[in-house]
Amino acid sequence: MSCRSCASENQKEFGSEISIHFPGLKGLDNATVLVFPRLVICVDCGLTEFTIPNAELQRLREPDAFQRPKMPRPPSTFSR
Ligand SMILES: [Zn+2]
Repeated sequence: MSCRSCASENQKEFGSEISIHFPGLKGLDNATVLVFPRLVICVDCGLTEFTIPNAELQRLREPDAFQRPKMPRPPSTFSR
């Protein structure tokens, strides 16, 4: 199969690990989604394609269902 961007036949497969972050400040409340896709990289133009598995797609669709645990707040006053 040739590259969709530059039509090169010079594509190679690589293993990878990708940590997907949700955008914006609200995204900080969600845990990142870690995936290990096989990448198909055009080594001429850099176009890269990969598929995210269904379980991780579900986490991207419904980030509020997978919020990271809230960190306990430190006490607001300290007694001596
Ligand atoms: Zn290309």
